[in-house]
Amino acid sequence: MIEAKARAVFSVDSPFEKTTIERRDVGPKDVLIDIKFAGICHSDLHTARQEWGSIEYPITPGHEIAGIVAEVGPEVTKYKVGDRVGVGCMVDSCGECEYCLRGDEQFCVKGNVQTYNDTNRFGDGRPTQGGYSSRIVVTESFVLSIPEAIELDQAAPLLCAGITTYSPLRHWNAGPGKKVAVVGLGGLGHMAVKIAHAMGANVTVLSRSEGKREDSLKLGADTYVNTSDEGALKKLAGTFDLIINTVSSAQMDISSYLQTLRVDGTLVNVGAPAEPISVNVFALIAGRHSFAGSMIGGIKETQEMIDFCAEHGLGAEIEVISADEIDTAYERVLNSDVRYRFVIDNSTL
Ligand code: NAP
Ligand code: ZN
Repeated sequence: MIEAKARAVFSVDSPFEKTTIERRDVGPKDVLIDIKFAGICHSDLHTARQEWGSIEYPITPGHEIAGIVAEVGPEVTKYKVGDRVGVGCMVDSCGECEYCLRGDEQFCVKGNVQTYNDTNRFGDGRPTQGGYSSRIVVTESFVLSIPEAIELDQAAPLLCAGITTYSPLRHWNAGPGKKVAVVGLGGLGHMAVKIAHAMGANVTVLSRSEGKREDSLKLGADTYVNTSDEGALKKLAGTFDLIINTVSSAQMDISSYLQTLRVDGTLVNVGAPAEPISVNVFALIAGRHSFAGSMIGGIKETQEMIDFCAEHGLGAEIEVISADEIDTAYERVLNSDVRYRFVIDNSTL
């Protein structure tokens, strides 16, 4: 057994505490990673605070992991000690079903194994714990390579925020001639803007205040709309080919956003609030609009996204924090006071 330093919460309303967790020994196809940085995703909050349902405590969240290979098993072929690597939201899947075989492991019919708050059903059968920790052991097929062109701290958020926005942008063909809107400028939203811009799309940010206007233009947006301005969405009727909705709350009128789509346009929800979202059907039928969803992306596509970001000089805009600041960071995420991703410096664990 390998011990790792970690930060964990021991109940729904307790702060993060120092702890030690166990990782399995390095198996033939396993990679041991010294974690250097871990991003804080809003999903970490939803999970740790039981917004998505009850969980087993203690929990060490973190699925935006960047680090250095420290040891490899004898059958590992893709990685060697010293390589710069990442791990995202999944650490295993059945590898045999139709979806795994086509590279959509996130939709594995037996369920992918989540990086934390899950059980490694295809491996050692132990509970999984995430990246707010010093080391992790992952089967090599779920480890991503991070090119030298991206700093490790700026690369960490790509492992969730990057792939979760890249995948629907690719799937719904964002590119030259397409008008893409991004709703919510947080961790996912700011990566959606950078990536959609790099793909050649015309990008509009829909945000609730004036506060992020200047930043969004620097990130690559062509237009910024403050949705709290009277009639702001009405004025955009029939504008967008594709909308990526990253909002973490269900407290929004999704129908008014659907009305900003062109005929045949699609609004893709990547935000994952626990509560249901209700839709006025007329916002769909008038315009043959689609209301869709998307969940992270497969491993092959995640590598494609990282390489795309390296090629286009894209990393996340980050605020690096020490492990003692995780609780404060969570509160700031809840207040939309993050520019644009908190990343834990794991040397401070
Ligand atoms: P985040 O950094 O907190 O960003 C969310 C943004 O949504 C905020 O910055 C804010 O933007 C906007 N927002 C928040 N509350 C709002 C409200 N009541 N009404 C309107 N806008 C609101 O969160 P994140 O890490 O990007 O994650 C966003 C969501 O995606 C979370 O629900 C997360 O669990 C989910 N997620 C899904 C996947 C997937 O695979 N589908 C993967 C990762 C995360 P403005 O200040 O600009 O308005
Ligand atoms: Zn995430």
